[in-house]
Amino acid sequence: MNQENVPEEAAERRPAAQPGAALWSGGDGKRCSKVVAFKFGGSSLLGAERMLHAARLVREAAQKSKVVVVVSAMKGVTDHLLTIEKALAAGKVPYARREAEVVLEMHLEVLENLRLDEESDRRVRHELQLLEHDLLHEVAGWRQSTNRAEFSDRLASFGERFSARLFAAALEKLEVASVPVTSSEFVLTCDTFRDAQPHLEQSKLRGRKILLPLLKEGTVPVVTGFIGATPDGRITTLGRNSSDFSGAIVAQVVDADELVIWTDVDGIYTANPQESAEARLLHELSYEEAHALAAGGAKVLHPKVLPLAAESEMVVWVRNTFNPQARGTRIGPASECSSALPSGGAV
Ligand code: ADP
Ligand code: ASP
Ligand code: MG
Repeated sequence: MNQENVPEEAAERRPAAQPGAALWSGGDGKRCSKVVAFKFGGSSLLGAERMLHAARLVREAAQKSKVVVVVSAMKGVTDHLLTIEKALAAGKVPYARREAEVVLEMHLEVLENLRLDEESDRRVRHELQLLEHDLLHEVAGWRQSTNRAEFSDRLASFGERFSARLFAAALEKLEVASVPVTSSEFVLTCDTFRDAQPHLEQSKLRGRKILLPLLKEGTVPVVTGFIGATPDGRITTLGRNSSDFSGAIVAQVVDADELVIWTDVDGIYTANPQESAEARLLHELSYEEAHALAAGGAKVLHPKVLPLAAESEMVVWVRNTFNPQARGTRIGPASECSSALPSGGAV
């Protein structure tokens, strides 16, 4: 099976009476088109050229399917934002302020290199400046925040909020209708800041109200990974490297047929290919096999993705943004190919 084929039974297994299902089902109660969720990691978004390249992958998929996108912050930005928090804790307020300005400058540079038409450029610039205003407001008011972890989540959330706006702009430049969506609008979590657990059912109910009408009208929602909010509206994050998990949550919200994790390697290997010359690419894995690798520390996939994907038997692909010709690793219910994992498991 290749990534464009969806077994028909999978679509038929889906309950017809999901909230919001009527938004896009035909008169017979069946869904009209395939839905895919694309998650892009930080290295796939680092700079205008990479954003446009990733946006082209979305444009191609959007010709055949409904697409929802989930983005990380640009590589390095979350670390940068967290140094602001450390600087403030050490009393280095002017330094923290300067760092916040540097974060804005990084994103403004990407905007410039996207070379949007004048009107779009003005609009997106304004959106970025509003975010910067909020970020500087956080920096100025840091003494008022009594909970350090909560404050750190609010700061860290800006990376994804910036990148979602820029990625939506990159799509628009390619004439793909798109809109940035901040996931704290629907991903409801507990208040364990820095490692918040999502309330999946409630998030699904709220998320469908926001995302399904967009998909129905052919707009690509560009959703921030990593971020949620408590029911009383305080921003949380799902933990470092958790945008993959956000990808799985968003895919589940829209009942996606597939989730594609676009990253910087050709798929899941037996070991980190950047560190081991012996690492072997795995073409086909069961949920359990891939979960064992993720839980064993393979950074390429967040360990919370597969238990969630397995619940709805959603197929997960891990693919290389920079080498989209490569098929990638398929994780899902057994297909005609047998598992590529050496017997006895890889961890
Ligand atoms: P992203 O920014 O796209 O989320 P990450 O850096 O989080 O990307 O994950 C991709 C990285 O995971 C790869 O560059 C690779 O170094 C690392 N990695 C660790 N273990 C594995 C593995 N078993 N297979 C593939 N990549 C792995
Ligand atoms: N931006 C967040 C981080 O750096 C989430 C992610 O990239 O997955 O941890
Ligand atoms: Mg990652």
